[in-house]
Amino acid sequence: MFVFGHIGYSWGAAVLATRMKRSARLPLLALAVAALGPDLVDKVAATTLLHDAPTSRLWAHSLVVQAIVLGVVWTTRRGWFPYALMLPLHVVFDAIDGWTPGSFFWPLLGWSFPPTDSYGHLDCPLTFLRFIVERLAESPLALAWEAGGLVVITLVLMGRRRPDAHGA
Ligand SMILES: [Zn+2]
Repeated sequence: MFVFGHIGYSWGAAVLATRMKRSARLPLLALAVAALGPDLVDKVAATTLLHDAPTSRLWAHSLVVQAIVLGVVWTTRRGWFPYALMLPLHVVFDAIDGWTPGSFFWPLLGWSFPPTDSYGHLDCPLTFLRFIVERLAESPLALAWEAGGLVVITLVLMGRRRPDAHGA
């Protein structure tokens, strides 16, 4: 789970998109929640309710489920669509830390979620936090990804502080 990476790169994509379309700024907090959305649903469920789940990438990480959510949002709450787009972007960013097709394409490859190497059984939130720290310590790519996300977060926040900044 890349907290800074998910938030930072999602904010960066949203800032670029709003500048290119010359549309109004989007609230950063709402974008951050949307960027972490699949993890907020699946990892919380896996560490609290579904202790026997073989992975912490469950239904909210499924591109099929996300396509349905995008369709519902597009037809009912079009103003929320930029936030809904953060969901598939999350899955793309997750693939950097390990491609899990059984979760990403659920249920097209089967109804059960296959166990994953990188995000296996998590019995409690503390185990999950320890896992994140260990993962960053052992993976230079994961650490670089998180550091890059933190840089983008800093740049976006600095852009928002400028009084004449547009679209940040
Ligand atoms: Zn995720």
